[in-house]
Amino acid sequence: MTLPNGLTPEVARDEAARAYELDRKHVFHSWSAQATLKPMVVTAAQGSYLWDGDGNRLLDFSSQMVNTNIGHQHPKVVAAIQAQAAKLCTIAPPHANDARSEAARLIAERTPGELDKIFFTNGGADAVEHAVRMARLHTGRYKVLSRYRSYHGGTETAVNLTGDPRRWPNDHGNAGIVHFFGPFLYRSRFYAENEEQESQRALEHLEQTIQFEGPSTIAAIILESVPGTAGIMVPPPGYLAGVRELCDKYGIVFIADEVMAGFGRTGKWFAIDNFGVAPDLITFAKGVNSGYVPLGGVAIAPHIAATFDDRVYPGGLTYSGHPLATAAAVATINAMAEEGIVENAAAIGAEVIGPGLRELAEQHPSIGEVRGLGVFWAVELVKDRGTREPLAPYGGTSPAMAETVAAAKAAGLLLFVNFNRLHVVPPCTVSEAEAKEGLAILDQALTVADSHLA
Ligand code: PLP
Repeated sequence: MTLPNGLTPEVARDEAARAYELDRKHVFHSWSAQATLKPMVVTAAQGSYLWDGDGNRLLDFSSQMVNTNIGHQHPKVVAAIQAQAAKLCTIAPPHANDARSEAARLIAERTPGELDKIFFTNGGADAVEHAVRMARLHTGRYKVLSRYRSYHGGTETAVNLTGDPRRWPNDHGNAGIVHFFGPFLYRSRFYAENEEQESQRALEHLEQTIQFEGPSTIAAIILESVPGTAGIMVPPPGYLAGVRELCDKYGIVFIADEVMAGFGRTGKWFAIDNFGVAPDLITFAKGVNSGYVPLGGVAIAPHIAATFDDRVYPGGLTYSGHPLATAAAVATINAMAEEGIVENAAAIGAEVIGPGLRELAEQHPSIGEVRGLGVFWAVELVKDRGTREPLAPYGGTSPAMAETVAAAKAAGLLLFVNFNRLHVVPPCTVSEAEAKEGLAILDQALTVADSHLA
C-alpha cells in the first residue's frame, strides 16, 4: 500500500534511512544537546496522521509544534501554494501583491476590537520582537512585563520575555523585562481557593508590580491569551478584562500573544475572543496558515499604527508578507471558514476531548488536573494527588514521563510534552472518531504513569 503522498513503503524506508543518516551528520537541532539525538523521520502526513520512517502510522495529537490547525496536507492549501508558486514566488516587501493584501484583509476582519493593520513576519518570535518594538516606540517607554510560565519565542527579546527555563541560558538581565505571576489556580501563587480569588489576587499582584516598577517606565504587558507550552492555563473569568483595565489606567500597551492559541485552537478565531477583550497588538503565526510556509505577524490597533503615519517604522524583513506564505494563509482562513473548522474545534473540545479527559482523570491517579478548551488541553501528571508533586520536575523530565510518552507513541499516538504535562492538541479538523481513538490510546499509556506512583 502506498503512502498518501504516493511513496511506496520501500521507497519511503530508503528515503528515511538516508534522511536520518544525513541528519545526524549535518543537521544541528534546536533546543538540544546534539550527541544523543535520535530524531523520528517523517515520510508522509495526511489530515490527523503522519507516517514515520519505519512505516508506522501515528495519530498526530501534537499538531507538530501546535501549528497544523487545519491538519496535514489540506488539499485547498496545497493547491493554493502550488498555484502561487506558478504565479509569483517572491516579491520584495515595499511592493504590494494580491496574496499579502488579501491575507491582511482576512486576518484584520477576524481580529477583535479595531485592529485592522497587519505587519507580516516569518514566524512567532519575530512577531513578538516587532510588537515590543512598536509598543516601545509608541509609548516612549522601555520596560515590558511578562508572566512566569510563558513562552514567547527563541530570539533575543522574545526569549527574555519567556517565563520558562529556556530563558535562563539566554538571559543577561539587561533586556528591560520584568516577570510577574499570572493566574494558575491548580498551583496558585496566591493561596487562592477558587477562580474568583485567583483572578482578583493575580490582578492585585500585577498592579503592585506596575506600581513598584514605575508605571511611567512600562511600555507593554505581553500575555499569551491562554498560555500554551507553559501549561494551557485558561485564565479565570475577569482576569484578561482586568489586565485591559490596568493597561488603560497606566497607559501601557496590551500585547496578546496568540501565536499558539490563535486561529481556531481554542474554538474561536482568537483565544482572547473567549473573554470579550480587545488588546492593542496581537502576535500570531502557526495556525494562520498551519505552518505550511513560515508566516507570522502583528495585528495593530489604529492608535498604535497612527504613531507611524508620519514617522518611519524602523523595522522590516526581506520576506515580510511572502507571497507563498500569505497565499497559504488566504487558503487556510477561507477553508477554515467554509468547512466550519473553528466550530469543529469548539464542539470536539466541549463534547469529546473535555469529557473524555475528565473521565480519564477519574480512572488514573497519576492525573492531577486536566484543563483546556477547544483542541487545546493539558493533562498534568503528578506523583501524588494530595501534594501535587509533578511527575517530572519543573524544567526536566523523568523515567515515568518518558515511559508514558513512549507507550503512547508505541501504540500510535504522538503527543506534545512539556515537563510533567501531556498536551492533547490535535488539529482543529480532528474528527470525533479520531479524538476517541487518541483518548483510548492515552488511557492505555496512562497505566504506565500510574505504575510509577508509590
Ligand atoms: N509565542 C508563543 C505563544 C509560542 O507558542 C511560540 C512558539 O511556540 C512563539 C511565540 C514563537 O514562535 P516561533 O517558534 O514561530 O518563532
